[in-house]
Amino acid sequence: MIYRKGVKRPEHVYPADPWRLVEKRFYPRLLPQTETFFATGNGYMGMRGSFEEGRPIFDGGTFVNGFYESWPIIYGEEAYGFAEIGQTIVEVPDAKIMRLHVDDEPLYLPTADLVDFERALDMKSGTLDREFLWETQSGKRVRVESKRLVSLQHRHLAAISYEVTVQNAEAPVVISSQIVARQNGVGNEGDPRRSRGFQHRVLETEDTRVRDRRIVLGHKTSNSGMTIASGIDHVIETECPHSVVESYDDDVGKVVFSADAKPGVPIRIVKYITYHTSRSAPPAELCDRAERTLDRALQHGFTDLLDGQRAYLDGFWQASDVEVQGDVAVQQAIRFNLFHIMQASARAEGVGIPAKGVTGRGYEGHYFWDTEIYVIPFLIYTAPRIARNLLKFRHGRLDNARTRARQVNQKGALFPWRTINGDEASAYYAAGTAQYHLNADIAYALKKYVDVTGDREFLAKYGAEMLVETARLWVDLGFYSERRGGKFCIHGVTGPDEYNTVVDNNTFTNLMARENLWYAAETVEALKKEDPASWDVLIDHTGLEPEEVAEWRRAADNMYVPFDAKTGVHSQDDQFLARKPWDFENTPADKYPLLLHHHPLVIYRHKVIKQADVVLAMFLLGHEFSAEQKKRNFDFYDPLTTGDSSLSSSIQAIVAAEIGYREVARKYAFYAALMDLNDVAGNVKDGLHIASMGGTWMSIVYGLAGMRDWDGRVTFSPKQPEAAMSFRFPLRIRERRLVVEITGESVTYTLDEGDDLTIWHEDQEVTLTRASPSSVFPMIGTEDA
Ligand code: BGC
Repeated sequence: MIYRKGVKRPEHVYPADPWRLVEKRFYPRLLPQTETFFATGNGYMGMRGSFEEGRPIFDGGTFVNGFYESWPIIYGEEAYGFAEIGQTIVEVPDAKIMRLHVDDEPLYLPTADLVDFERALDMKSGTLDREFLWETQSGKRVRVESKRLVSLQHRHLAAISYEVTVQNAEAPVVISSQIVARQNGVGNEGDPRRSRGFQHRVLETEDTRVRDRRIVLGHKTSNSGMTIASGIDHVIETECPHSVVESYDDDVGKVVFSADAKPGVPIRIVKYITYHTSRSAPPAELCDRAERTLDRALQHGFTDLLDGQRAYLDGFWQASDVEVQGDVAVQQAIRFNLFHIMQASARAEGVGIPAKGVTGRGYEGHYFWDTEIYVIPFLIYTAPRIARNLLKFRHGRLDNARTRARQVNQKGALFPWRTINGDEASAYYAAGTAQYHLNADIAYALKKYVDVTGDREFLAKYGAEMLVETARLWVDLGFYSERRGGKFCIHGVTGPDEYNTVVDNNTFTNLMARENLWYAAETVEALKKEDPASWDVLIDHTGLEPEEVAEWRRAADNMYVPFDAKTGVHSQDDQFLARKPWDFENTPADKYPLLLHHHPLVIYRHKVIKQADVVLAMFLLGHEFSAEQKKRNFDFYDPLTTGDSSLSSSIQAIVAAEIGYREVARKYAFYAALMDLNDVAGNVKDGLHIASMGGTWMSIVYGLAGMRDWDGRVTFSPKQPEAAMSFRFPLRIRERRLVVEITGESVTYTLDEGDDLTIWHEDQEVTLTRASPSSVFPMIGTEDA
């Protein structure tokens, strides 16, 4: 376990608070981080937490999920089947900007004389609130209050209320509200986790509408041909005399309000912001849509938006909150994680969830397996409709996956390692394209979704087809190896651990592929029996032949699972145990993450791990391992795991909790929970680690509460929390609401809504009914193993 890094937030500036992330002073040093912390979003669009005043700025973009530019991938040395087209999320015209001048003096926070300052992300109201008192050089005291939100109810709408009051004098006040189409100059500066910059103009202007405090712009991306309309409109409320002028020039639209401020009389501008994007609709049509959204916003007003925001969040917290007693900082960190998963997913409709949500351009705005393995579990248990949408999005890209399978000379479908539009966008096959486990990860998430929600209709309509095609890929990819006693082997793939690439028989992949095959067989057989109409459609869509199903079963039943009798551990892959040991002792902290300091081949030839791999398999498919094997594997792999990926620590926490390493579990769970707030990985400036945020929830529910849910059988094996701490969280299981409360003394299961529910506490079957909704068990304290 090697953790380090990050610029920690000074606690006096960011005090613990259960519902808000508060910044008590303007802190320029932390600007890149705070732009990420204070990002607001709804899964469709996201605004980084840059200031309305436009400067200072690190990377203050606004992003629309799935809105990307494409570019030809130029390889120094090409090879057959390499991905050809790159995809990169692009910054949309930035509409947050409202520059303030008092007495012609511009407000620039780093040099301004600030008498007080507070900024807070309010996780109950879903607003980014800021208030400060600025004393100008000529002694005018100016109170500025702003409130920003990206609407959770109206997916195309955001708004800012900006209020200026000169307290002690008359003064000319100018507020220049802007929309700026920047053209993506930011490059990745040698860090592959960051996004590329573009040399060309990305956004071609196609439509410009400027009138009556409103600006609507239509753009088309140069290569990918995506279209976007971005619009702003304003309402000014003040008793001070004022005038308004609109203009648009050189990618900058302005609505400039000039007022003669009177002492103590507020000038308030509400700015409404909208984006509409498409792959096919002409910009003019999107501009019409944008105008309609703005009309509606003006009609309903800002208060209506605030009410809607709160109503949405009341529902969110009711369904998802993890309440913590005994430590406000822990409570805050957990809510921060949950809130940002919500902001990444709430309105992600017809798209995936980028690794950074919509908080930054890190990882180019791509969707990875992060969604299926780390985020979807949380959504299944708290917002199943969103989980369903995300799985349906994968189904919508099944044809791309079919095409991709052909490109890599395979049958069936191969889902891309990283993508926005459904095509493989990874230009690095070793640690990228070769991660075929994506197929099995999707199948795994699908099974969990169906098991926990009981939504078999989804399985019949969308899931089965994905299962057929992914199963076909595995059967075609693997082979029966004589050297392995006729077992079914899968060679030349990369597992989750990106420090061991293109390996044979990655344990994780083989086990997950086996489940994929079994689940596919089980599903199509059940469909044939129980739902002939869906069966017919499935045959029509896939041309499935009955003997294929038998083939899937044969491969699954004979799957080779590497196990080393000598050490008693499951080898991560066929090669792993023979690799050269990594010299951890002489690797200083500043040489991590290894990938930024070593040629890939150096890493690949060593026994060193980026992230949980066998350990992840032991969590996802825990029933495949005995308790003793789990402990042995964990003891072996944990010291080799660098945690250079943020996807690691939550999983290590869960498995450590299961095998009784309480202290280790606690430490890893903290790393996951504070991955962003403490900038553990050192790159929070590029956006949040959404997978780790989902992992944080998992480390409580699967770690602390010890929940397991294989085949929809929900069992708990709670661990005693730290002294004086308690946790309480709800879970939605087949339309029932279960609330679990864990204290130092007891665990209580309460059926809060819905019909009878059977769960297991340790090995004991517990049926909760309306008449008898609660069961309490004493907490058995354990010593650290
Ligand atoms: C991890 C992957 C992950 C990706 C995006 C990489 O560093 O190794 O597992 O999918 O980041 O979060």
